[in-house]
Amino acid sequence: MLKWPAIMTDEHLPKPWTRLRHVFVYDDPDTEGLNTDALARFLADALPQAEVRVRNDYLTHQLRRYAEEGGEELIAQLTGQFTRAQVDNLVHPADRGLLPPEAPADLGLGEIYRGQALQAILALMMLADEDSLDQLHIVLTSMVFGDWDEHTRDFRVRVGCLGQPSLISTTGLIEGPARPRDFEVLRTQMAVMGLDEDIADLAEAFEPRALGYGDRRITTCLQGYALMAIMYRAYGEGPCEDPTCRLHDAATQEELIECQCSEDAGLCERHSAMLVALATGVDPV
Ligand SMILES: [Zn+2]
Repeated sequence: MLKWPAIMTDEHLPKPWTRLRHVFVYDDPDTEGLNTDALARFLADALPQAEVRVRNDYLTHQLRRYAEEGGEELIAQLTGQFTRAQVDNLVHPADRGLLPPEAPADLGLGEIYRGQALQAILALMMLADEDSLDQLHIVLTSMVFGDWDEHTRDFRVRVGCLGQPSLISTTGLIEGPARPRDFEVLRTQMAVMGLDEDIADLAEAFEPRALGYGDRRITTCLQGYALMAIMYRAYGEGPCEDPTCRLHDAATQEELIECQCSEDAGLCERHSAMLVALATGVDPV
């Protein structure tokens, strides 16, 4: 855990690059249990100076404009780019001459994208005058994306891909942070025995220790990731190392639930002070 001075004064804190004026939160209608309006209210409370607006899902919102402009060719080009952004082999690119390919389909999550490639495509679709430094687009999506861990070289499904736009995957929230090992062992055994119906009961039994699809805690967990997107935009800093901070990118489901959903869930002292500075500070020069 990082140690910070007991008394946080301005001199210890980075200065925000920008004051956020507009935050657009794009809904994902395919995610059961997601309450995007509630998430937007949470962000509006955290950033009273910003206008937080909920929009339809990102692709529908942007493609409608293309369709109005008669951009069928553009849509065809985008489709090709989405295909190229898909992961077709889970083996790290540097190891592909040494190891046999691993099909992404083996994960059972449908199409999987390289996070930054997907982000770059979505950024292309954004209106130029909505892309100034004081605006942030947060795209909630059930699409699955990830990248390769720099140290282990394993492919990791991710929850967030921070930047403009910031992508937050609701599927990644459930499939990214590791489930308890005993859950995975039992689930594999049940799948082998064809006990698919019992797997739902298993997920229920493990509810205190792992999120499931349609889980009532999804929106709460997304609050932390949306704050992460805001802090990255304002300060250029990624997730927090402190596992008790809501800006922590949890490696396991238990860690995720603890840092986002426990009664005393909150930001670490440093990030609390940075958020207050962002919400109340003077405009940067
Ligand atoms: Zn923190």
